[in-house]
Amino acid sequence: MTVIAVVETSNVIVLGFVASLCASAGTAVGSLGVMFISSLSRKLEDGLLSVAAGIMLAATFFSLLLPGLEYAGLQHGEVLAVGIVSAGLLLGAVTLFSIHQHAPHEHFQLGREGAEATELSRIWLFVIAITLHNFPEGMAVGVGFAGGELSNGLSLALGIGLQNVPEGLAVAVALLSVGYEKTQAMLFAALTGLVEPIGGLLGAVAVSSAAALMPWALAFAAGAMLFIISDEIIPETHSAGNKSLATFSLLGGFVIMMILDAVIG
Ligand SMILES: [Zn+2]
Repeated sequence: MTVIAVVETSNVIVLGFVASLCASAGTAVGSLGVMFISSLSRKLEDGLLSVAAGIMLAATFFSLLLPGLEYAGLQHGEVLAVGIVSAGLLLGAVTLFSIHQHAPHEHFQLGREGAEATELSRIWLFVIAITLHNFPEGMAVGVGFAGGELSNGLSLALGIGLQNVPEGLAVAVALLSVGYEKTQAMLFAALTGLVEPIGGLLGAVAVSSAAALMPWALAFAAGAMLFIISDEIIPETHSAGNKSLATFSLLGGFVIMMILDAVIG
C-alpha cells in the first residue's frame, strides 16, 4: 500500500536513476574484495563471471522480454507486439555490435608491443568490456522502474546489483594482477559501475517522455545484454577449458534470477 503510494508520488525518472545507482553499488562492493583476495584462480574467475552471465540471461527473459511483450501487446495487440520486441532486440544487439567494432580496445592491442603490454591490454580490454556492458544493464533498471511496475524494477535492480558483485571483484583483481595498487584497483573497478546510473537515467527519461518507447527500450536492453553474454562472457569463460564449470555456473545464476523474479515479481 505505502510502496504503491511512494511510486505514484515520486518521480519515476529519479527512481530509475537511484535504483540503477544502487545496483552499481554492487560493483563497488565486489571491488572491495580486492582488499582480502589478491588473486583469483582462472577457474574461480570463470565460475564467478558465468554466474553473473546467468543472472543477466534470466533478467533478459523475465524482466525485459516478457514485460516488453506485455506492454507492446497492450498498446498494439499480440501480433505486432512480437514484431516490435523482436525488432527492438535485434536493434540492441546490432548497436552493441557496432559499439564493439569502434570501441578503443583494438587500438590498445595495436599500439603496444611485447608480452607484458599484451597482458596489460588484455586486462584493459576486459575492463572496457565490463564498463560497456554496464550501460545496457543500467538502462534496463531505469526502464524497468519508469514503466511504473515497482516489482519488475525492483527484481531487475536486485539481480543486476547482485551480478555486479562478482564482476567488480573480477575487474579489481585483474587490475591488481597487472601492477595497480589495491586502492587504485578498487577505485577503477568501482568506477566501471558508474556507467550504470547514466544508462539508468537515459532509459528512464526516454520511457517517461514517450510511453510508446517502453517495449522498444526493454527489448533493446535485452538484445544488448544477450549480445554481451554471447559475444563476450561465454567465449571468455570457456576459453581456458572450464566449460562445464562455466555452463553450470551460468545455470546457477539463471536459477538465482528466476527465483528473485518469482519472489519479488
Ligand atoms: Zn553484467
